[in-house]
Amino acid sequence: AAPLRGKTALVTGGSRGIGAAVAKRLAAEGADVAFTYLSAESRAKEVAGEIRSLGRSAVTIKADSASAQDAERAVDEAAEAFGRLDILVNNAGIFPNGPLDTLTVEEIDRTLAIHVRGTLVASQAAARHMGEGGRIISIGSNLAERVPHAGITLYAASKSALSGLTRGLARDLGARGITANLVHPGSTDTEMNPADSGEPAEAQRALTALGRYGTAEGIAATVAHLAGEGGRHTTGAAFTVDSGANA
Ligand code: NDP
Repeated sequence: AAPLRGKTALVTGGSRGIGAAVAKRLAAEGADVAFTYLSAESRAKEVAGEIRSLGRSAVTIKADSASAQDAERAVDEAAEAFGRLDILVNNAGIFPNGPLDTLTVEEIDRTLAIHVRGTLVASQAAARHMGEGGRIISIGSNLAERVPHAGITLYAASKSALSGLTRGLARDLGARGITANLVHPGSTDTEMNPADSGEPAEAQRALTALGRYGTAEGIAATVAHLAGEGGRHTTGAAFTVDSGANA
């Protein structure tokens, strides 16, 4: 089955982790996929090779989501490469953390630029290319909804901004048949948050109802559901995929 056959997608931050899993899953379901990366060029080439081995087209775009200009350019390049754009996945992200006192203005600005401004600018640009059936899916965090420990004020603030952003997009774009939804991963085994990091991972696992980390593939499955027919009647909504940590 190739439910996304004929569709094209752009995933931001697709060279590793959740973004790479999403890019590959969308391709496995039939979509041609472009994705951005910041610096991991060889990793990006590997992911593109895997997408091509599935028989789909892949386009890699070096673009810093912290730059509004890059965020817009990546969308335009993807739409131009494929001649259309159906799906945008706003995934690129970082994990600033530490004592409140050590937060710098530069760190605040960069985090908000990547998570909030980059997502808004990319969504705005994507909407210009999308028609009926367009899908905008952003990756938030379960820490947007509940903050279980100290040191993540900036991260939580930046991710919770996506809740209003997503609801707003749903209202702005609903009349054109374009949906906007949010996926909130919990602790997910990637280089950002390795499941084998010892004490920090144990503490996160202890918060979950299922007693385990999630996987990038698990998040990708939810994104693929929303990107396909399954997402047809859903917009302005958020899906928490966190092994029950926020339950
Ligand atoms: P990783 O650190 O494993 O991968 C991050 C990806 O984003 C890489 O492809 C990286 O590119 C790219 N990236 C980072 N900064 C930029 C930038 N400024 N411009 C363009 N691309 C960028 O992270 P995860 O896969 O774990 O996280 C993906 C998303 O999921 C993030 O938004 C994160 O906040 C969110 N999330 C993750 C959770 C987790 O437990 N892992 C939990 C909840 C949310 P490059 O390889 O070139 O550096």
